[in-house]
Amino acid sequence: MTALLIDSHCHLDATEFGRPADAVADEAAALGVRWIVVPAVERANFSAVAAIAHRHPCCVYALGIHPMYVARADEQDLIALRTQVVQAMGDPRFVAIGEIGLDFFIPELKEGPLRDKQEHFYVEQLKIARDFDLPVILHVRRSQDSLLKQLRRFRVRGGIAHAFNGSEQQAAAFTGLGFVLGFGGAMSFTRALQIRRLAATLPLDSIVLETDAPDISPSWLHPAVNAPAQLPRIAAELAELRGQPVADIAHQTSQNVARVLPRLGSLMMA
Ligand SMILES: [Zn+2]
Repeated sequence: MTALLIDSHCHLDATEFGRPADAVADEAAALGVRWIVVPAVERANFSAVAAIAHRHPCCVYALGIHPMYVARADEQDLIALRTQVVQAMGDPRFVAIGEIGLDFFIPELKEGPLRDKQEHFYVEQLKIARDFDLPVILHVRRSQDSLLKQLRRFRVRGGIAHAFNGSEQQAAAFTGLGFVLGFGGAMSFTRALQIRRLAATLPLDSIVLETDAPDISPSWLHPAVNAPAQLPRIAAELAELRGQPVADIAHQTSQNVARVLPRLGSLMMA
């Protein structure tokens, strides 16, 4: 077993696993995954992610409305989020606002009213994060510059730009705003040149590990359903890309998560 690892992004409540979240988390825990961050995607799963975190010793959760769920969300959901956050501030297992962001990869979301609606939900959720001094977990897909623009207007305490796939300059802009960048299965594909180059060359204190399970299966698993139990192998992949011992990767990336998600950092020290 390697040093303790943190899966900074895993949708454990997803039905795609085809088995209970606890079984999926147990399997990862047995392989050295000490913590799993479970983000919400819409109001309807706020209680599910909280319940998993209360049931499983490995899990913590975030609350937010994902850009791919914005189409069916409404203003009431933003009000419900704020109300839920007020309550969750007393819950040590609650660690961030997320998953929020912008998705300009999906054509229907990229233009017209849904683009505006995405921007609105993103901004309103940044305000909630700012009001409660909470970090945010960002969904970044062909939207780096638009996300950065709003982050400069609505200063939050930082967080994680998950499944990062941008330029070196964009990476520097995120880290300059207090963010770390999430790397996972995507870097295991040899054709993912830019992601591999960033993973190999960025300062290690700006990187966190993630699976994004059940999505983004690594090359050795693709196209089977991903799982947090793949994290040790993803850590090994990063270690190989960087030419560094996996123990150093595990240690530093865990420290990074503790730094940007201070509520989880407190749990880690408890
Ligand atoms: Zn996600």
